Amino acid sequence: MKEKRIDPPVMVTRSSLPPLEDYVEMLKPLWESAWLTNMGEYHKQFAAQLKEYLHTPNLELFVNGHMALELVIQAMNLSGEVITTPFSFASTTHAIVRNGLTPVFGDINPVDYTLDADRLEDLITEKTSAIVPVHVYGHICDVERIGEIADRHHLKVIYDAAHTFGEEYNGIGIGRFGDASMFSFHATKVFHSIEGGAVAFRDASLAPVLYELKNFGITGSESVESVGANGKMNEFQAAMGILNLRYVEDGIEKRRNLVRRYRERLSGVPGIRLSPENPKVRYNYAYMPVVFDGYRKSRDRIFAELAEHGVHARKYFYPCINSYDCYKDQFDAEQTPVAARISGQVLTLPLYAGLDPETVDLICDLILRQDS
Ligand SMILES: *Cc1c(COP(=O)(O)O)cnc(C)c1O
Repeated sequence: MKEKRIDPPVMVTRSSLPPLEDYVEMLKPLWESAWLTNMGEYHKQFAAQLKEYLHTPNLELFVNGHMALELVIQAMNLSGEVITTPFSFASTTHAIVRNGLTPVFGDINPVDYTLDADRLEDLITEKTSAIVPVHVYGHICDVERIGEIADRHHLKVIYDAAHTFGEEYNGIGIGRFGDASMFSFHATKVFHSIEGGAVAFRDASLAPVLYELKNFGITGSESVESVGANGKMNEFQAAMGILNLRYVEDGIEKRRNLVRRYRERLSGVPGIRLSPENPKVRYNYAYMPVVFDGYRKSRDRIFAELAEHGVHARKYFYPCINSYDCYKDQFDAEQTPVAARISGQVLTLPLYAGLDPETVDLICDLILRQDS
């Protein structure tokens, strides 16, 4: 059996776009007012709509998710050590390090790949000031345990919620757990504003601090009170976000069906592991991670075979952050063996709202075929 090449090639993701005419229509007021950035009309509207959609009373927009994370960490005035996971995108640890803080890597659990709450307390020292966990692939961290441990040790919790836009746990918006949560609206995410991000936060008094930090620390026409950055979302981004928000539910529904199709084909296959779905979670189906653990073909072999057939999956996350060139001399990736192992076994398969369900079948055929 020789499956044919999929043409045009299928990438791991593809950005959703609203109808072009709608975007052009939204640009007209910008040409009239010539107000293109610095917290304009669309910025205001977009923030208000997101508060409603995410069920979070406090929210601040940013130019991208990374700046959002970096600046909310700065806003918390942390010191010393911050516990985080090596099984994430570069941004999570970089945001800690760029704030002059020391990351301490905790291992992940082998079921849903989020920070292992059982071993969290062993990592806490008198220097620890915060925990930055990541809701990986849309799987929600053990928010209850993490919250309880953080409270007991007086630590801040800032979630990297880049993968969990619109998710709910027990009917509660995911942005309401911890002290703050960062969302990313990058073009490759479930929901996007080209580039963009937001922080949802618990303490309302953080709002002016975040606003100030994303605008150079400026507090008045003749006063600059803190060393801020430029993290402002512009009007073109906000306009894209407003439009995409109209289609996000539809996109999630399409993703849900595609994930169901992948699961039907791949679950129960010896050596292929899929994370269980938690009935308490309303998922956004951001990613389709598959772990090849004792399968007759390795992750790297599957990756290469799919690529030969025009299917470009992604080794995400590989390598682990604590084995990056910029960190490997300071950290020992063997301290987080589960993360290291999963990172060598995981592949995220193509998943986006516009993906053809038949392509999912072809991808599964390629993974499951016997002759290779
Ligand atoms: C996308 C992403 C980020 C960074 O967000 P940007 O909007 O691209 O800056 C951070 N963490 C995780 C886990 C991500 O997937």
